[in-house]
Parts: sequence; C-alpha cells; structure tokens
Amino acid sequence: MTIQAAEGTKDLLPGEAQHWEDFKRMSAEVFGRYGYVLIDTPVFEQTELFVRGIGEATDVVSKEMFQAVSGENLKRLVAGEAIKGKSRLSLRPEGTAGVVRAAVQHNLVPPGAAPVKLMYAGPMFRAERPQKGRQRQFNQVGIECLGAQAPSADAEAIIMLMRFFEAIGIPAEATCLLVNSLGCDECRPAYRERLYRHLQDNAALFCEECLRRAESNPLRAFDCKNPQCASAMEQAPMITESLCGACQEHHGQVKSYLAIAGVPYREEPRLVRGLDYYTRTVFEAQVTEGLGSQNAIGGGGRYDKLAEEVGGNPTPGLGFAIGYERCVLALKAAGYEFPSASTCDVFVACVDGTVQDAAFEAVQTLRDSGLSCEMDHQGRSLKSQFKLADRQGASLVLIFGPDELAEGSVTVRNMETHEEAKVSLEGIADKGCGGLLGLAGIGQPPV
Ligand code: AMP
Repeated sequence: MTIQAAEGTKDLLPGEAQHWEDFKRMSAEVFGRYGYVLIDTPVFEQTELFVRGIGEATDVVSKEMFQAVSGENLKRLVAGEAIKGKSRLSLRPEGTAGVVRAAVQHNLVPPGAAPVKLMYAGPMFRAERPQKGRQRQFNQVGIECLGAQAPSADAEAIIMLMRFFEAIGIPAEATCLLVNSLGCDECRPAYRERLYRHLQDNAALFCEECLRRAESNPLRAFDCKNPQCASAMEQAPMITESLCGACQEHHGQVKSYLAIAGVPYREEPRLVRGLDYYTRTVFEAQVTEGLGSQNAIGGGGRYDKLAEEVGGNPTPGLGFAIGYERCVLALKAAGYEFPSASTCDVFVACVDGTVQDAAFEAVQTLRDSGLSCEMDHQGRSLKSQFKLADRQGASLVLIFGPDELAEGSVTVRNMETHEEAKVSLEGIADKGCGGLLGLAGIGQPPV
C-alpha cells in the first residue's frame, strides 16, 4: 500500500505552494505599510510556554498539542521515566506565544520604547479532529504589536486585517467582522463569577465538559458546539454589561476608530475565542459562504498580561492570525482564479537532433543571464515541444533549426500570438524576453 500524507495534513502541490509564497509576500507587503517587520521563531518550544501563555484549561493546550520528543527522551518515556522541565517540548499550536517569548528573551521592547511591530508566517500544529477547514498542520500569517496600550492600536490592527483580505481577493461583502471586549483584571473576575453561577444554576442544561470547564474558565461555554449548551448560553449574562469604566471607554474608542476608517463590524458579546490570554478587545473575521462551520478566516485580540506570563516586564500587546487554508477555501467560494505555476520564460526547441548541442549551450547561457529557460530532454517532435512550452507557461520559444544555425540565427516564436521571426543568435542572452521579441519585431510577451 502506498503511504499517504498523515491524517489532517495536506500537501501544497506546485501552483498551490506558489500561491502560499505569494500570500506570504502579499501579507508582508500589506503589513509592511503599517510598519511591521518579519520575525521567524522555532516551530517547537518548551511546553511550559504554551501552558503558561495560552492557558492550561484551553482546548488548544489540554487536548490539541503535539508533543515533540527527542530520541533519548523517547527511550526515557518508554522506560516509564517522566520528561521534565526544559526537555518537555511541543510543536507550536499558534504563533503569538513564541513571538512574545522571543521579544521578552531578546528585550525587543525596552520600557518606554516605541511599539514593536512583528509579523510572521509558517505552519502551526493542532491535534484536532480533521474536517473541512480544520487541519492538524495548517499555515498562518500573523502579527503582534507589542508596547502599545491605546485603542487606536487595536483599531489599526483590525483595519489592516480587513484590508489584507481585500488585497488577496476575498471581497469585503463576503466577510463579516465580529468584535467584543473581554474586560480586564478589574472587571472580568466579577463577570466570571456571574457566568459561573449561571452555569451552576442551570447545570442540568449543560454538557459535562462545560460544567467541568466552568471551574477553570466558564467563558469557554460560549464556544461549546452542543446545541443544548448554546441555547442555555442564550440567557447567560454578557461581558459587555460588566465592563469597568476604563474597558468601556477603550472598547468605545476602538469602535469609533473602525467607524472613522469605514470598516463595518458587528458587536458580538458571545465572542470569547479559544485562548486564555486575551484582555479587552477580541475580534474575528468570518466568511459568509463556502466554509461551513469552520468559517473564521482570521482573528485575534489584545493580551496585556501575556509578556508577564512568560517572564517579561509588563508589556501591553495585541495581535491576530490568519488561516491560509481557510482563505483558499474562501477564495474558491468567491470564484477566484488561481494562477497556474509557470516554470519558464523561454523554451528552446530543436527541429532535429543535429542542433541539440547548440541548443543545450544556449539554454545554459540564457539561464546564466537570468532568464528561466527549459528544453526537451526526451526527443519530442517540434509540435510536442511547442505543447510542452505552452504547458510550462513560456512566453516565447527559440527554435533551433540546422539551416538557421548554419547562418548564425534562430527563430523566435511568440507563444501568445504564434508569430515567428528570425533573430541573430549572437547576443540573444543579453536581450531578455521582451528584448528578444522586440528584436524580432513581434511585440511584447503577455505579462
Ligand atoms: P486561532 O489561532 O485559533 O485564533 O486561529 C486563527 C486562524 O487560524 C483561524 O481564524 C483559522 O483561519 C485558522 N485556523 C485555526 N485552527 C485551524 C485548523 N485546525 N486548521 C486550519 N486553519 C485553522
């Protein structure tokens, strides 16, 4: 039996992998306009970072983390010994904890400094039950803004998130932005208590998991997919009714900045998001079609306590992450045409075997001059070589024939118009695609 990709993982095939590269480039371009610079952190970290940063009671940490075990520790495990401290490693389930850890470790945000704006891209790992839009390894691009307290920073990140979706081709009318505030250390404890009481008073209506999680974080009950729990949560107290004055003001200002930028949003007091580190603003972008229940394409929020959790100075922060594979599903649903992978600019074709050596030499020269260039290695007919050139996306074909070669020339064929003209072989490498077609008097290749 042939070995298949591991459950919940997906190959990005040629074309798809190119699109992921373009997606990353586009994110760097859009986020760069807002002052973000790239950071790249390891795909595995000490398990303790995620336990402390994301929260032990979250699904992500309690159920979905992939442990990374070195060979020697595996032997220890098999022998029944525990793996302790720094040797306990996990694949990152999300990017924020690692980026904040790196910022603290390398003192990227000294007290009083201007906010540091970091962006990242790469794979994340969660041992979830795979389904459409939910994988065990998936790609994210994301940002973290560290050191900014003001509500304008929250709004700026949300605006940037929505602008990015438009930039990659997800139409604004296909997305819906939800915003909420989760309060702070001042107001959340009293709210948690009210919510806990709601769960206890209506215990008969909730699933075991909600009741168990009520002890550690009753807000989790808002995320339960069980319809009976969801309906019992309809009557639950809302965090927005319990916000302290400072949180109310912060939330109000975030919304007013969104209005200034003309970014439509919906207030969703049930939006809690699955990670424990959020304080005040949380937000999520959803698509209205094509993704079923996994319709969140990106989301994030403010996390003013996270830097301290991982051992740093008090540093306000906020960020978001965007799921690449879900964006692809959203783009497909919106009828987006994915460009096919083009592998060459110039294809060098041979009329017969006598010109093979000269053609081979020309291919190397063209490549050395910076063009991507291909030739046939399987003795195909000229017609088949044209077909191959077409499949590979070549703008032009240089046809090497014995008669032309004898007089020191080759034929240039424009693959868009099929026009042909002779050019001198000498110096073809210096011309580039456009130059070659121009030289042959047959116009520019399609861009
Ligand atoms: P989160 O880190 O949970 O806030 O997720 C941020 C974004 O990553 C989500 O909005 C999704 O687009 C994407 N995402 C999260 N989990 C998965 C998954 N298991 N498979 C695919 N995409 C995911």
